[in-house]
This record gives sequence, structure tokens and C-alpha cells, in this order.
Amino acid sequence: MKNFIIFICFFSIVGTLLALPITFTNGETLQTNIDSQSNMIAFDGNIEHIFTHCLLAYPSLALSEENNMKQYYEKDCITPNEFSLILKELYENNYVLININDIFENINGKIIKKKVFVPEGKKPLILSFDDVNYDQKKLKKGMVDKIIVDEQGNLASETEITWSTTKKIDISYDNEFIPILENFIKTYPDFSVNGAKGTICLTGYDGILGYRTSKKNTVNRQQEINSAKIVVDKLKTNGWNFACHSFGHYHMKNISDEQFKQELENWKEQVEPIIGETNIYVYPYGEWELTDDNNNTSIKHQMLIDYGFQLFCGVGSNPFFSYMPLNTSGTKSLFMDRTPIDGYSLKNRKKELLRFFNADEVYDFKYRT
Ligand SMILES: [Zn+2]
Repeated sequence: MKNFIIFICFFSIVGTLLALPITFTNGETLQTNIDSQSNMIAFDGNIEHIFTHCLLAYPSLALSEENNMKQYYEKDCITPNEFSLILKELYENNYVLININDIFENINGKIIKKKVFVPEGKKPLILSFDDVNYDQKKLKKGMVDKIIVDEQGNLASETEITWSTTKKIDISYDNEFIPILENFIKTYPDFSVNGAKGTICLTGYDGILGYRTSKKNTVNRQQEINSAKIVVDKLKTNGWNFACHSFGHYHMKNISDEQFKQELENWKEQVEPIIGETNIYVYPYGEWELTDDNNNTSIKHQMLIDYGFQLFCGVGSNPFFSYMPLNTSGTKSLFMDRTPIDGYSLKNRKKELLRFFNADEVYDFKYRT
């Protein structure tokens, strides 16, 4: 299976070959995601899914020449300003956020698409966010330290700022995607269907959401887990959900089946107890492996299915939501591509992004070169 690299990031790409029109299986499974209070209609077009990474919360630091993460951040991430402007344009262009769990279901072991309902004139959109772990190699390099629940019970970001010899804790509501989206939907509640927010794609190798919950951390680990759980519970209550983005952010084809199994065990042991089960798998680097050389389901993919994953997300600039592999009559899995929103795409994929927003209008000229 050949993948085409269409942009550069920590994440490579899967999906340009997947640019097929969406087709719903049938109308038999109409249900559940109807808000009975309002006029919802079945949507028959493409369900769009866009993703980005943690924001460059402190852009002047993140994009400074002295920062050894700058080149990655510049390509793979966006600034808080860009994110806010993108939300505004998405809203103005009649997109509404839906919950990714409302687009598929398991009927007697078969994963099928569900009809999606949105208010008349609106278009469904899924937002997801990758690598939301704030791992230690990124600390003090322009991202926030962690997500917290503040004393008033609101989601916020927390970052320790050092000014020459003094340290200060910065609690912010406008420099990371979680509080920004929370506040945007408070202002524009009709941007969200049934309170849906976004999908947070986690790894586990250095903890989650800024908490050092992995087993390799032996200092205050239980306390970190307890703190992470408070944030996770609040996120879930507020309409966020979680996806598995692997444990160690590996290249799928570069590790053995045994290592892959260990990855999944690590996820089950170290992440799932904190966030609960998820049946959504988001491929690191957008690299997937479905079949072996004989065109049978690969051992790794079978492991993912056996562990309970039901929706598999890759990367691609066009909407794709269908069953893969396309060319065999064997086991098929439900796949969805996600359109990357990052510094690279804002610069080089303007045309593809026009269906969402005008990249020139959101581009952060203040901080980007
Ligand atoms: Zn990733």
C-alpha cells in the first residue's frame, strides 16, 4: 500500500488516495443524535473532519529563532489567534460541531455508519487535536504546561513562566484550544450539536494533558493520575471525547508485531484507566497497515480490532469516510480521513482549505515569517 506524502510534520500522510465521495450505508439506523427540541435534518453530504495539534500558546517564544522546536512548531501547529479566527470562519460558513461517536455504531459486531442530523442549512464537522500530552521535551518552548480545572470549575491552561529570577504561574483562557473552544461555544452555542466539542487524541509515553501519568514517572505518579482524572471528567462532562493515538507515537511499519502488542498493552494499562475506553484509533503520522503481503488482514490491524477499535482515522486533504481496504472482499474497517490544519497547510493548501476558511485571513503574520 503506497502512501503519498503531501505535507511534512511529525505526522505523515495517508489519505490523498482516499478522496472518494461519502455514501451512507442506508437509512435503517436513523436515531439517537437528534436534538428533539430543534429542527434537525438528515445530512447526506460529506462529514468533514479537521485536526490540528496543541496551539503555540506563546507564539513569540514558540517561533523564536532560539527555540529548537521552532521548525516543527512552524509547520505542524497554529497560534491561538489563528485558531480563534478559524473557528469564527467555520461558524460563519455554517459548520456545526458533531460528536465523532455519533457517526458510527456497532450492530451485532458490524461497524456501520449512522445517519447524521444537523440543523437545516448546517454542515457537520468533527474537530480533533493530536498529541495532547505536553510532553517534557516541549516544556518551556511555547506551549502550555497542562490543562487544569480552575477554582470556579472552568477548563483553563496552566503554564509556569520564568522572568529572570522569578517564577509565575499563568492561568489562561485564551491560549489553548480547549478553553478557546469552550468560550467560543458559550458565545455561539449553535456552533455545537448537542454540546459536542472535540476529540482529544492522546499518547501515553509521557503522560496525558500535561500530567506525568506514565509508569516511567515514579515521582508522585498517583497524584498526577488523580489530577488528570479531574480534568478528564470535566472534559467529558463538557462534550469532549478521547481517541487513542498509540502509546509511544511509533511508526507503525517500523515496529514488530510483538512491540505493537506491547504498545496496546501499555495503552490499556496506563491510559485507559484514566480516560475510559475509546473505540477510535488515530494513526501516528497517519501511517496505517491494513493488510499483509497476501492481502489478508495484517496481524497489527487484527490486534487493533481485537482491542476494540472500531473507527480508524488517517490524514488526507479531502473528506473520506468509508470502508477499507477498498479492493478486497475480506474484512473491512471503517476509516475516516482528517484534513490537517497547521502552519504548512495554511501556507501551501489554501485552495483545499477554502471550503472551511480563507487561510490568508487567518494567517498569523504577526508571529510567522
Ligand atoms: Zn501525533
